Amino acid sequence: GCGICTNRCPFSAISVINLPEALEEPIHRYGQNMFELFGLPHLSEGSVVGILGPNGIGKSTIIRILSGELIPNLGNWEEGEDNFGANTENKWENVINHFKGSQLQTYFKNLSKGKIKVIHKPQMVDQLPKFVKGNVKDLLTGVDERNQLGNVLEILDLKNILNREIANLSGGELQRVAIAASVLREGDFYYFDEPTSWLDVRQRLNAVKVIKTLAGAGKSVMVIEHDLATLDAISDNIHILYGQAGAYGVVSQMKGVRVGINAYINGFLKEENVRIRKNPIEFSIRPPTPEDEGTAIVSYTHLKKSYEGFSLSAEAGEVFHDEIVTAFGSNGIGKTTFAKILADVIKPDTGEVEEDIKIAYKPQYIVSNFDGRVEDFLYMNAPSYGSNIFKTEIMKPFSLEELLDKQVNELSGGELQRLAVASTLSKEAEIYLFDEPTAFLDVEQRLIAGRAIRKIIESKNAASLIIDHDIVFIDYISDRAMVFQGEPGIEGIATKPTDLRTSMNTFLKDLNITFRRDKETKRPRVNKLDSYLDREQKESGEFYYLK
Ligand code: ADP
Ligand code: ADP
Ligand code: MG
Ligand code: MG
Repeated sequence: GCGICTNRCPFSAISVINLPEALEEPIHRYGQNMFELFGLPHLSEGSVVGILGPNGIGKSTIIRILSGELIPNLGNWEEGEDNFGANTENKWENVINHFKGSQLQTYFKNLSKGKIKVIHKPQMVDQLPKFVKGNVKDLLTGVDERNQLGNVLEILDLKNILNREIANLSGGELQRVAIAASVLREGDFYYFDEPTSWLDVRQRLNAVKVIKTLAGAGKSVMVIEHDLATLDAISDNIHILYGQAGAYGVVSQMKGVRVGINAYINGFLKEENVRIRKNPIEFSIRPPTPEDEGTAIVSYTHLKKSYEGFSLSAEAGEVFHDEIVTAFGSNGIGKTTFAKILADVIKPDTGEVEEDIKIAYKPQYIVSNFDGRVEDFLYMNAPSYGSNIFKTEIMKPFSLEELLDKQVNELSGGELQRLAVASTLSKEAEIYLFDEPTAFLDVEQRLIAGRAIRKIIESKNAASLIIDHDIVFIDYISDRAMVFQGEPGIEGIATKPTDLRTSMNTFLKDLNITFRRDKETKRPRVNKLDSYLDREQKESGEFYYLK
């Protein structure tokens, strides 16, 4: 159990509660007592198959197998064995025999003979500059085998950075360049491992659009994604991965995207008869908060801040006790600048933050240059470390126990994020300020983090401000919200915190997107552009928040 909730806590069991009757032999095992993968997803021409599952459950392993980077050993692991040794042919032979009579037999036959071309957008785009030199234009024109350069540059909004060196790109720019490079190349199978990290909502939906053109051209596409609204919008069908992170992962049968995501949210996979969580994750439709609700914990006057070329203007506003305010908007629109002003890291040019309050702040970019173990880090950075409260409200939900002995500078992105959010929450403060806390976390970890934040601020009568791009997460945790509009990199205008419905309407109107709610689970879903609902909602001005 995760220990956040007392009774109907949806997270009280994160790994499987009951296993399927029998697991067949694994597809791959990394070594003795090491991670095992059971099953592989279905490949489907002309459509997008989504992969949904927690971190450490084998998603990237699947993609490495399907792209021929890792020959699966069918669980027969031998000491000192390496992947492409002298036995390569034998190994493929075994794999091809194993899949006799199935779709995967032909696939692996062709893959091993180099008869099919696989394009793989790796998870870690920040590694790209190590392997690719030169500027964006040279890279993308060099790989434009499908003659789609103009179209792809347009959709992914890359025209302005064509002359930039790959080495100087931001995370979001690297991600879009990596997606573009994959889409431009000619292949039969396309694999996208977490394509939306670093991207804002508009860019996520643009990525959806451009990746879907591949399916439209008859390609077979597979996407691993933790942002449920994006996964929902991009996939035709999905597979859920379940099991025990770090130990074993099982690939579910293929499910329709709506049914599959709902099953994940409800925590029960019917066809497999497997329960992956004790209780469903429940989305609530909060009524708009009245303007004069609660007492302010902090207020600020109209704030202005300019850098060369960029200016931010934030309408005067306040944050109440016991509430979570989310903030969203494009990349480069001033969200982090605003957070820094609140956290007193930088001073505004005009205006002021009125109360002298204590703020615990998790910056957007977390550095891992700490030299030492996670436990040492916690001793130094988590004031309540060792207390009972820390154990139940922070250690458990963020699963820190398993990290204690690891070196901080060797943590994965998701592990580092958990550590950073957890240590921020362990500080004594009146406002807990998180800049993009869901980056690199899986669905479960995102919602667990949201609940942990809620629990701590309520117990301390504090408040939280959270900047994020994941609409489903935002919908799940927001009491109120603020929107950043304007022109990225040039001008940002922030509204004061107001009710979620108003903020979302403002935000989505700007993006020309509408959301509906799923009838069964109440989770937000993107409407197809120009669909009946899309047009109806736009006409009535209800871009969001329909029953
Ligand atoms: P996901 O993409 O779902 O987060 P991965 O497929 O990357 O998960 O990893 C699944 C599990 O396999 C993890 O526990 C990971 O530590 C382990 N693993 C990944 N690569 C290797 C490897 N080369 N050797 C040993 N274990 C590995
Ligand atoms: P967001 O968090 O919304 O992505 P930021 O607040 O980080 O946006 O940045 C807004 C704009 O201000 C960007 O164009 C960024 O390049 C610029 N900017 C941020 N910090 C500085 C700085 N210290 N000096 C100059 N420009 C900056
Ligand atoms: Mg992965
Ligand atoms: Mg930022």
